[in-house]
Amino acid sequence: MKTSFNQKDLYWNPVVETLPLKKLRDLQLKKFKRILEWAYEKSKFHRKLYQQAGLEPGDIQSYEDIAKVPKVEKSMMREIQRKDPYPYGDALCVPIEEVTEFRQTSGTTGVPVYQPDTWQDWEWWAEAWAYLLYAQGYRKTDRVFLPFGYNIFVAFWAGHYAAEKIGCEVVPGGVLDTEARILKIQELKATAMMATPTYVLGMADTAKKKLGIDPARDLTIRKITCAGEPGASIPSTKQRMEEAWGAKVYDHVGATEIGAWGFECTAQPGGLHVNEALFLMQLEDIETGELIEEPGRKGKIVITALDRIAQPCIRFDSKDVAEWSKEPCPCGRTFRVIHGGVVGRADDITKIKGVLIAPSAIEEVVRSIKGLSNEYEAVVTKKGDLDDITLKIEFLPEEEKNREAILAQLKDQLRLKTNLGYNIEVHPYNSLPRYEVKAKRFKDLRKHG
Ligand SMILES: [Zn+2]
Repeated sequence: MKTSFNQKDLYWNPVVETLPLKKLRDLQLKKFKRILEWAYEKSKFHRKLYQQAGLEPGDIQSYEDIAKVPKVEKSMMREIQRKDPYPYGDALCVPIEEVTEFRQTSGTTGVPVYQPDTWQDWEWWAEAWAYLLYAQGYRKTDRVFLPFGYNIFVAFWAGHYAAEKIGCEVVPGGVLDTEARILKIQELKATAMMATPTYVLGMADTAKKKLGIDPARDLTIRKITCAGEPGASIPSTKQRMEEAWGAKVYDHVGATEIGAWGFECTAQPGGLHVNEALFLMQLEDIETGELIEEPGRKGKIVITALDRIAQPCIRFDSKDVAEWSKEPCPCGRTFRVIHGGVVGRADDITKIKGVLIAPSAIEEVVRSIKGLSNEYEAVVTKKGDLDDITLKIEFLPEEEKNREAILAQLKDQLRLKTNLGYNIEVHPYNSLPRYEVKAKRFKDLRKHG
């Protein structure tokens, strides 16, 4: 393992990752015009959308003009699907026989959306992941373990191909169960892995309790790339993972219909770089839609994949919320950083008892308290006209004796960080649901009575 990198060895693409800002914006504008023209010419869906807005591709002459282009929402993609060319509908920009990949969204927020890609798109996916893995220190010397069952979702497929593209040795640990995966990591002395934060913590738990293996001491995993949940950008969750594995934990963010658009680098700047060579990300004020360029103000992410051709992603309204970081990253990349990663979903940020709250704030508090297990659940209900929030937690068995002190600390921190009072329910250790992929720990039952 290399312990220090020379400048040349820091970046997957040293030229674009350090482009001066003006040149980077020019590159994005040029690519944006190209993909807009492509979609206008090749897809009925896009042409109709732009014609209805009275817009032609030639109207986009400056970076500022981009904000005039109508946004696309996930619900619009749902409506056109299961129609010809079957099953994608008329946002498809290539002859159907050019499609080589089928994926679909997880359906967490409704009916899944289908995503076709050509082979060129698929190479683009791997390229986007190569930027991020390289930025997280993956090199030819790594043996990368993937403790994940590949399926119809895009999760970790592109990570797998990108690791190969960099020259790493890749071990697919798909159908093995958790214990077998841990033993395989030990046997092969794997150096890196990719998983959801929930599973990273769950594996460490299983290793200790069932196998008597301490991952930090007995295994050789030294970097972990997370995806699927915000945990690796939540400081207390990140710290729990890093301590459990004796590894650096890095976040990455992407989506089936967008691509792998953001990543943390080895400098761990407290946020994620946006890959501005392959994507154009804009932040909009959640209420007014005004473009946000200044740091420190939260906005909704509107994003374009600049090179994806089969089913383009142009000004996609992601509903994710982020803010620009105040400081450039010490790693030297000119790609901008979003502070604290994706801080929530515009849909999830909800009012409880009149207070605006992002569910990740609850996670940050629970995971910062040493005596509690990794699992928790927050349930919002309505009692008459009043909102009510219950937080279910578990004590670590060895911490039962400090119960009262831990509870007092939890209540204090919750009040301080979320401005809310909770009913706290203590559940026996190991009784709350455990998740392997996307955890559902925040349940808002108010809409269903
Ligand atoms: Zn950086």
